[in-house]
Amino acid sequence: MVFGSMEDELIAISALSHYSYCPRRCALIHIEQAWTENRFTAEGRIMHEHVHDESRESRGDVRIDYGVSLRSLRLGLIGKADVVEFHRQPDGSWLPFPVEYKRGKPKADDCDKVQLCAQAICLEEMLAASIPEGALFYGQTRHRLDVVFDEALRQETEETARRAHELIASGRTPPPVYEKRCESCSLLADCLPKTIQKQRSVKNYLTRMLEEP
Ligand code: SF4
Repeated sequence: MVFGSMEDELIAISALSHYSYCPRRCALIHIEQAWTENRFTAEGRIMHEHVHDESRESRGDVRIDYGVSLRSLRLGLIGKADVVEFHRQPDGSWLPFPVEYKRGKPKADDCDKVQLCAQAICLEEMLAASIPEGALFYGQTRHRLDVVFDEALRQETEETARRAHELIASGRTPPPVYEKRCESCSLLADCLPKTIQKQRSVKNYLTRMLEEP
């Protein structure tokens, strides 16, 4: 499954996480370039800027690379990993283990896992390696959650990449659907899901009335 093989067809790995959270959010950020910084996104940005400084350190049998550039031509993705640990194996080889830092706490949906799995798929393609696991680190709970890249998560990640590519290539932003997740969305004030949804239902009602014989 190849979504993009040329540099200009690559989309940001973060688009997958945005798409999993809400396709409209993905379109607002990656098509309309809307980005509203609030306290949460500012904290997240500062956290990422810190871990995105490119550097390397070693701790025993673990080598740690920060701010690793990533790319998958197969899935048409480009981005950066906060941290890639390399764990020394008994045969002397080094097994990559991506770690992504998140400001908040573990989410009910898979959007963070999909983003991490996409990073692993990029590393596998770049290093011709097989990567079975990675981890998400949540700043609010200071909790490290190990994530297994099983077949189900890989399929979900590939499907999300396909859909995000389609959405961004279409250039069309889907209408809002107000849900509980909207209250934690940094784009709530730009998106106005309740207002637009109400306007759309009034418009649909009027259209139906006018079409009735
Ligand atoms: S406010 Fe809701 S509908 Fe709008 S982008 Fe955010 S999650 Fe999606």
